[in-house]
Amino acid sequence: MASLQAYALVGVSARPVLVEAHVRPGLPGMSLVGLPGAAVREASERIRSGAASSAMPLPTQRITVNLPPADLPKEGPGFDLPVALAILAASGYLAPEQLRGVGALGEVALDGGVRPVSGVLSCAEAASQAGVSFLLLPLPNLAEAREVAGAVPVGVRCLAEAVRAVRDEGYRLRLHQRGERWLGRRESQPVGLGPRPPDLSDIAGQHAAKRALEVAAAGAHHLLLSGPPGAGKTMLARRLPGLLPSLTRFEAIEVTRIWSVAGGGRSLSGLVRERPFRAPHHTVSRAALVGGGPTPRPGEVSLAHRGVLFLDELPEFSRDALESLRQPLEDGCVVITRRQSACVFPAATTLIAAMNPCPCGFLGHPRRSCTCTAGALAHYNDRLSGPLVDRIDLQVGVPPLEIDALEPAVREATTAEVRARVEGARDFRREREARTASSAPAGDHPTAVERRLCLSPPGRRLLHEAVAAGILGGRGYARTLGVARTLADLTGSWQVREVDVGEALALRVG
Ligand SMILES: [Zn+2]
Repeated sequence: MASLQAYALVGVSARPVLVEAHVRPGLPGMSLVGLPGAAVREASERIRSGAASSAMPLPTQRITVNLPPADLPKEGPGFDLPVALAILAASGYLAPEQLRGVGALGEVALDGGVRPVSGVLSCAEAASQAGVSFLLLPLPNLAEAREVAGAVPVGVRCLAEAVRAVRDEGYRLRLHQRGERWLGRRESQPVGLGPRPPDLSDIAGQHAAKRALEVAAAGAHHLLLSGPPGAGKTMLARRLPGLLPSLTRFEAIEVTRIWSVAGGGRSLSGLVRERPFRAPHHTVSRAALVGGGPTPRPGEVSLAHRGVLFLDELPEFSRDALESLRQPLEDGCVVITRRQSACVFPAATTLIAAMNPCPCGFLGHPRRSCTCTAGALAHYNDRLSGPLVDRIDLQVGVPPLEIDALEPAVREATTAEVRARVEGARDFRREREARTASSAPAGDHPTAVERRLCLSPPGRRLLHEAVAAGILGGRGYARTLGVARTLADLTGSWQVREVDVGEALALRVG
């Protein structure tokens, strides 16, 4: 019997799995046991052909591969390489003891080549925690694996290289050096998720919307932009990721794990270093938006983790899709339950939604008239009512562009300038929270929250007036206070002043 370590993905993390192979006399054939998924069951054909192409034909005997623990489902083609190595060792091409402390992942092609797989960063983390001495993986996945300290990643291009790497330490070292050279050539290409969006200063005017973007970035508040077609709502939304502070290394690893698992084998050239911006179309299904499927995959809200999720034409999304976003936006994660297991996908994202003020788009327009019927308007607004919109703290109008505003009369703030203010507010918040952590009262009671957030008496008076006037409900009260706190953080004010509450009310009511 021969065995080595492989990795099963559960959500965005990976768990070690043992691959054990036995070869014994009997009817020729291969059986895989221990909850293999469809792709793993198909491995036998790929491996048989791949091994034959690599001049290591498998014996015409009974081959049994066991994948403990038996209660953990094994999905994806990443099991090909470890299963192939275990069988080759059980067939005499390798000494079984040479596989001790070895981990492997990769898809084996019919010609014996080793192809990239998804979820490599998480597998490398699992390998490192499990203490393997080296991890064999497809060369194109090397950049991701190298971000994890611990198990030494060895990138291979084919099954023959993997077998030789197990046998021969000197060869393994040469493959390691080859990998470093290969990475060096790739590092000249920048790692990103797309072209860098243009600068905030390219947009003339729209100061209310720009202010709302700054507040959204500073306090991670969700934002709804409402305005006629062509007012520049999408242009504004595209600028939000640039206003957020750079990803920390910890955050970059979180984002990369998700992108890697979702990648379907597309190899990432290292860590994702830019904040994601995802803009799913309004026809997106619930599963594509929040994740799902028989083998749960992250959805758009998780691909937007630590970045921005942009929903253009919000009222056009299905009610089911919008409803499904409520829990992720509240909790910062998506929980998907399958049979006896549950997996969690991170989803800490800032939502930016955009909509026309009415179906025709021209309600309240200074020069054009709205042609919508009262019934159509009521139906349109009805689609927006509900718990999702309740969770959008900032709602601002984006008026149609006026010709005067296009004159470069005032110098517009650049993305870098606003980002510096956002970073300042976030630093101030951290310091404030650290200093009040021991003395502030805990709990969700309004009085406790008001004291914790340092609401000034005049600010409190104004906020309570808004509740008494019916402008704010219970949830609106708490969320407006949160926005006011962010506004105070932006000016470095210890107290939430009346002026902060006033602006927060204006930003919420739209
Ligand atoms: Zn209209």
